[in-house]
Amino acid sequence: MIECLILGAGPAGYTAAIYAGRAGLRPVIYEGLQPGGQLTITTEIENFPGFAEGIDANQLMLTMRQQAERFGAEIRSHTAVRADLSQSPYKLWFDDGSMEECLTLIIATGATAKYLGLDDEQKYQGIGVSACATCDGFFYRKKTVAVVGGGDTACEEATYLANLANKVYLIVRKPYLRASKAMQQRVMENEKIEVLYETNTLGLYGTDGVEGAHLVHRKGEADERQYDLPIDGFFLAIGHKPNSDLFREWLQTDEIGYIMTQESTPRTAVPGVFAAGDVADPLYRQAITAAASGCKAAIEAEKYLTELKAAAQ
Ligand code: NDP
Repeated sequence: MIECLILGAGPAGYTAAIYAGRAGLRPVIYEGLQPGGQLTITTEIENFPGFAEGIDANQLMLTMRQQAERFGAEIRSHTAVRADLSQSPYKLWFDDGSMEECLTLIIATGATAKYLGLDDEQKYQGIGVSACATCDGFFYRKKTVAVVGGGDTACEEATYLANLANKVYLIVRKPYLRASKAMQQRVMENEKIEVLYETNTLGLYGTDGVEGAHLVHRKGEADERQYDLPIDGFFLAIGHKPNSDLFREWLQTDEIGYIMTQESTPRTAVPGVFAAGDVADPLYRQAITAAASGCKAAIEAEKYLTELKAAAQ
């Protein structure tokens, strides 16, 4: 029986493991498909406190992993494929056919940024393509970038990037923005941002990184026009998908799929089951906020186990 099972190996999962390990809970982390989490698709991290000169994202995740192991965390490389949270101990099945029971479960499975599905997004990932302006915007100071999307995230990212870049194009597929009025106004009032309505991206080009995007205006209409837009960076902001599918049957999620937790704690409605990091955070989605919620989840897990043991005596 595992006392504390942690699903996901991003900042939330590793931080939960560090705290749970130090509390003597002998946590077991299942890394899943993307060990290190979303950070491993960016390059350098400059906004994680404690690293004055910045740190390579993969190095940061490796260090967190080693820190978790130092306190006794066992790291397994499988992915959960099924869950039964109907009663404690909770059951999880993995892609190698194994099944484990646990007394506490910390879900730190993160969220996945949505991409358009172009081959070029893969080709230029980390060398001009990003799904996180806060992570990578700094590398585009005084450059020209494009943001794809017309929602609140896209407007927020465009506004953020406009503080750094010389020019920001907002590529919107509809003739209007979906974002809230306040957010739209911020975009409209910003001289550096130019909105390209009714525009879709066909591909990207560049030799050692992104140098431009192939765009199409009013695709399929009589006045369709294809053209190339020179840019240095291409930012996706078309939404995130929280990795919560496995738990929808058991836990309350919002309409997008983010796991609902209680009053700014990582507690879910199921006792002993906690959600930490981006899988429960539609708003901040930062490594540091994920780490903080992982810490809270481990503290909650320890408290729950102490109460469980006291009740059993
Ligand atoms: P949304 O789903 O609201 O918006 C996604 C945007 O991306 C839409 O404009 C959509 O276009 C566009 N899009 C989706 N798929 C494609 C595609 N394949 N090609 C081109 N464009 C595409 O996601 P957000 O991440 O913006 O927001 C998620 C939630 O978080 C919302 O409820 C939002 O209000 C909230 N939020 C709030 C913030 C705040 O209050 N500060 C900040 C950020 C988010 P279309 O309109 O045509 O469907």
